[in-house]
Amino acid sequence: MPTISFLGLGAIGTPMARHLTQPPFELTVWNRTREKALAFGRDTGARVADTPADAARGAAFIVTCLSTSADVESLLDGKDGLLAGIARGTTVIDCTSGDPATSRRIAATLAAHGADFMDAPVSGGTSGAEKGTLTVMCGGDATVFERIRPVIGAFGTKLVHCGAVGTGDALKSVNNALLAVHVWSTGEGLAALAKAGVRPAVALDVINASSGRSNTSEHLFPERVLTRAFPRTFRLALLDKDIGIAAGVAREQRVASPLLQLTAELFRAAHQDLGEEADHLEAIRLIERRSGVEIA
Ligand code: NDP
Repeated sequence: MPTISFLGLGAIGTPMARHLTQPPFELTVWNRTREKALAFGRDTGARVADTPADAARGAAFIVTCLSTSADVESLLDGKDGLLAGIARGTTVIDCTSGDPATSRRIAATLAAHGADFMDAPVSGGTSGAEKGTLTVMCGGDATVFERIRPVIGAFGTKLVHCGAVGTGDALKSVNNALLAVHVWSTGEGLAALAKAGVRPAVALDVINASSGRSNTSEHLFPERVLTRAFPRTFRLALLDKDIGIAAGVAREQRVASPLLQLTAELFRAAHQDLGEEADHLEAIRLIERRSGVEIA
């Protein structure tokens, strides 16, 4: 039975880890806030580790799903850190939406301990995680990708090897930058139309039968903004982090990217204004406040 340790039982990590509690896997979990790990252990029968080092001991695969790459890196060192428990030949699969430079540094540190690393961020949201239908975009050696297939296949259906370490992170950040562009531009457009006398539901009905449609206009706005439900599925703080990574990748690659840089600025401002716990779609509240109109 492949022994797996899963670190990071957040909004998306929890439903992902749940798929690994089924045979043929044998799962250990660790979470910084221990109560969440204990509750998960009670629900599923997974073993709860005391520390990252304890989680690493005996694991063939270690899956991490934390907020940022810096958080993953912070778990490596010290007497309780992952490196204190990791054995040669272990494979670390990092499902954090991370940043390429930190992932490359983590991969080098692990390689010095005889362990392999693959950045493997996911898309498909918490509902995709529950259904086990995530897309997993992987950066690292092709042989490592083949080795991790059964593990990431437990929570993903589209498993893609993108290239070297860091390329999964880069692709994920650009995908989320596109989401951010759609959210902001749809919000601005609907605010303008509302003030011009077109109800948002009417506007979306037309846009979704026309070339301006997107997942954002077809699902996110009708289901979460017009209803004023704004369910907290994906924190604005995390989308701000992702678009910041995408803007950084574009700058590093010397790509002229005024739209990505501006979108990063807008989401940073929204994050600062709305705080750590706001959902990503609540960025719309900033447009509404600045324009004096509600998209409802
Ligand atoms: P949450 O904010 O719900 O959870 C974050 C997790 O990371 C928690 O388990 C938290 O522990 C842990 N964590 C954060 N910082 C540290 C640290 N310094 N040391 C140890 N543990 C830490 O985030 P999500 O689950 O939503 O997201 C996780 C990753 O997946 C992010 O990179 C996100 O961008 C990405 N993602 C999220 C999606 C979504 O729909 N939610 C979709 C696709 C990707 P604690 O419980 O103690 O706070």
